[in-house]
Amino acid sequence: MPEYIAKDEKSGNPLLVDMRSLNIRYRIPVSRIEKFYESLDKGIIMGTKCPVCGSRFFPPQAWCSECGFSGDMEFYPLDTHGHLLTFTRIFAKPKSFSGFGDYTVGIAHLDRENINVLAWIDDAIQKPEVGMEISIKVEKRKEDNATVYFISKP
Ligand SMILES: [Zn+2]
Repeated sequence: MPEYIAKDEKSGNPLLVDMRSLNIRYRIPVSRIEKFYESLDKGIIMGTKCPVCGSRFFPPQAWCSECGFSGDMEFYPLDTHGHLLTFTRIFAKPKSFSGFGDYTVGIAHLDRENINVLAWIDDAIQKPEVGMEISIKVEKRKEDNATVYFISKP
């Protein structure tokens, strides 16, 4: 049997194994939240605040979903101190992360912002615990050199 034909574990039926790489390039319009990415590149995590009703948003929103304001939102640096609400280890990855090792994602509550943040958890936190103190930090992800924010040690 050719090496590119494998047996299905359950049925025993032959399967064609295709090993091509999949590169995905996303193009997402960010004109009204571009400042977020400019700041992230400098290591600063920004949220947006509505100048009319004061509602705060993260990830940044280009308009206010509380009062409907659609003008320019205010950008401000987040207070990144908080606590871990929950986490899970990802073994079965989406296709776009298939080239990455297993990773852990979590939801952190930023105490002074009253905002929840979904992010990967830094590998330096080997045993995450619900309720543990955390901080959100900006790093270059080693796998793809993207600038991303992580749930990290305070
Ligand atoms: Zn508002």
